[in-house]
Amino acid sequence: MLGQMMDSPLLVSSILRHAANYHGDTEIVSRTVEGPIHRYTYADMARRAERLANALGQFGLEPGDRIGTMAWNGYRHLELYYGISGSGLVCHTINPRLFREQIAFIMEHAQDRILFAELSFLPILEALADTLSQLKAVVLMTDEAHMPRSDVLPGLICYETLIGAASEGYDWPLLDENAASGLCYTSGTTGDPKGVLYSHRSTVLHAMTVALPDVLGISVMDSASPIVPMFHVNAWGIPYAAPMVGAKLVMHGPKLDGANLHELFEQEAVTLTAGVPTVWLGLLDWMDTHARSFSSLRRVLIGGSASPPIMIRRFEEKGVQVLHAWGMTETSPIGLTATLAAKHERLSEEDKLALKSKQGRPVFGMEFRVDGTDGQPVPRDGTSFGSMLVRGPWVAGSYFGNPASPAHRIQGWFDTGDVVTIDADGFIQIVDRTKDVVKSGGEWISSIELENIAQAHPAIKEAAVVARPDEHWGERPVLVVQLKPGAHFSRHDMVELFTGRIPKWSIPDEVLIVDELPHTATGKLLKTAIREMVMNELRVGSFDDGIAG
Ligand code: AMP
Repeated sequence: MLGQMMDSPLLVSSILRHAANYHGDTEIVSRTVEGPIHRYTYADMARRAERLANALGQFGLEPGDRIGTMAWNGYRHLELYYGISGSGLVCHTINPRLFREQIAFIMEHAQDRILFAELSFLPILEALADTLSQLKAVVLMTDEAHMPRSDVLPGLICYETLIGAASEGYDWPLLDENAASGLCYTSGTTGDPKGVLYSHRSTVLHAMTVALPDVLGISVMDSASPIVPMFHVNAWGIPYAAPMVGAKLVMHGPKLDGANLHELFEQEAVTLTAGVPTVWLGLLDWMDTHARSFSSLRRVLIGGSASPPIMIRRFEEKGVQVLHAWGMTETSPIGLTATLAAKHERLSEEDKLALKSKQGRPVFGMEFRVDGTDGQPVPRDGTSFGSMLVRGPWVAGSYFGNPASPAHRIQGWFDTGDVVTIDADGFIQIVDRTKDVVKSGGEWISSIELENIAQAHPAIKEAAVVARPDEHWGERPVLVVQLKPGAHFSRHDMVELFTGRIPKWSIPDEVLIVDELPHTATGKLLKTAIREMVMNELRVGSFDDGIAG
């Protein structure tokens, strides 16, 4: 017998309608590339998203057609999220920090029909002129006063003119909740980027999860500022979760440095934020140098790569609670969050920090499986390693246009490519990406564990650990560091730092000091390039005295 409840589909447009109807006067504040701060409300945003949906109607698009966006976090990008998905098209967010060839590959693979791009990305667009010539239109997200002339791209359309000419009022269609709503490509440090095609249902369910108290814990009382870009897994769902609960949204635009973030957080009384560790490193260092504090921030979600324990401490010392979380483009992204349970209250501060530094426990809806090399589940003892597989309503069942990926080889599961431990409470700790773990003499060394230790050293600004080939051991770890200005760090310091904290055989043999550590387009350590740096040092033989750089 079927239940007798109404069958209302979970649609992206339902979030917008809710925010406009019941939180219509709540503010959305954006730093713009044109310069000034822009302010308006959810009701304003909904009206402009309706105009946008009407404007899109004139291009002869089919339902499910992909519309590219290349933009920072801001109000026009938000209108695109809702106007595109709400009208039955697919919002394809493109990471502008990728190499030009990768952007061209992604746009061709996705078969984007229209591209909406931030004014400041004109040089990227001009370099991609061949790819863009296959589109129906390229729209610059600015007003007439700021429209540039481009000889390479003469047909550019102005966003404000486009939506200004369209009528207000639009009936959001009652779509199938399983229809595609968004598309995001993985950053692909090896091989071609892979597309993850989200549905309305997965997006809404994920946003409801993000809002939960043990995840972002966002409410109508909050002022939320996702620092994670809207092109990195939909800013981890915050552009959907905030309007869902009626929270104020604060969008940082193009400026990610410590001074600008701190100013924005203070001016807009931001209470919640989320981003990758590299950005927080910049903010915390700037605040320490300038003796600043937070007056409103209460919680920061750190994810994308492992949060070093020292970073959790530094935020806590500033009165901010850290929520360490794990996710992937393929998992929308939220899968694990590291909130302590009531029974953990009696633990020592050190033990609490150790737990908070893990990636956390599964959120409801997500099921995890940790397999050893024999394909059998590893013991839940917090020390045995295994490959992490996941399934759930917001996990990719296959890649867009690429159904036969090895990550989906086990029926009904997605292989994350992460090596992890799991304990009796279900707390999962990421040991490493499968390809980043250092395999030394049959033992596995976690690059993350070593990086976390190194990160706490006063001389070190940022640390990475990568494998180098070794005739005897197979691989050995090398520590690669960027130092703080004027600081010194030797091989001797390194051995002293690690001794007593990790087994002797896991201590790196060498340290390489570099001017800057390279990062991926989403702000993570770019291990392929760091390995290449180490290989170059090996070739020139500068590791002989144990210290290079
Ligand atoms: P992406 O799809 O670009 O977001 O990358 C997903 C990968 O980032 C995961 O498979 C993990 O290896 C890594 N990752 C995400 N969050 C964390 C975290 N909190 N700690 C360690 N690694 C993480």
